[in-house]
Amino acid sequence: MNRELHTIGHSVEGRPIELWSDPAGPNGTLIIGGVHPDESAAINLVREFVPPRGNPVALLPLANPDGLVRASRYNARGVDINRNAGLNWRADSEEPSGQAPWSEPETRALQEFILSWRPAKIIALHWALGEIDADGVQSTALAEAMWNALSEVERMPYRLRVTEADRQRLEQTDAECPGSLGRWVGYGLAYPDGSQPAMITLELPYDAALPRAEPLPDDHFAIAQAHWARDPQSYLTTVRGPVFKMLKAACELA
Ligand SMILES: [Zn+2]
Repeated sequence: MNRELHTIGHSVEGRPIELWSDPAGPNGTLIIGGVHPDESAAINLVREFVPPRGNPVALLPLANPDGLVRASRYNARGVDINRNAGLNWRADSEEPSGQAPWSEPETRALQEFILSWRPAKIIALHWALGEIDADGVQSTALAEAMWNALSEVERMPYRLRVTEADRQRLEQTDAECPGSLGRWVGYGLAYPDGSQPAMITLELPYDAALPRAEPLPDDHFAIAQAHWARDPQSYLTTVRGPVFKMLKAACELA
């Protein structure tokens, strides 16, 4: 892929927010990592991913560069940029959500890029709920294409989270993640032609060698981080193949 580097904005501390895109054009697939920069594996995998030829793809490995410098979930103002988007934003969110919707330059950079490039599909990588989480009914086909790209064994550390009863889903996610990117894209965004992008939050597994437990262990994030601290290469080696299969299927879905 003949990738072009773009700076789509700057962080609170002026660090560039960088994106690599295929110049083939808009309406492609946007793949995002590092919204929560303490979720290290997600950043690495977006950096490493080589999209299949012939599909417009934009890769944004690190949406929150100030957070990476701090090894933090938050930006330099202590805001969770995944609670700062404009749909059902709440001041009393469990995570710090900023002064107002879109108050943070990192969230605005994402919003402006999405509104101008108009990706048909958006996938944000996070750590470590082990799920393919679809926001909005228009996202079901994309979630299923990603799920179907995996063998039965590869699916074990994941669950497919798709609901048809969207009203219920909206209320549920309102309680869980007010102001998240997924909520805004999946339920609050339509392009001028009326189309709505598909939105997937791809949560990497806490342990790629085990079936996903139900309920999820409370310390799922600590389990993933401990594996990472011990041996990041072994974590990446275990999750990379299936993640890249899912991303490839997502890029190729018409
Ligand atoms: Zn996250």
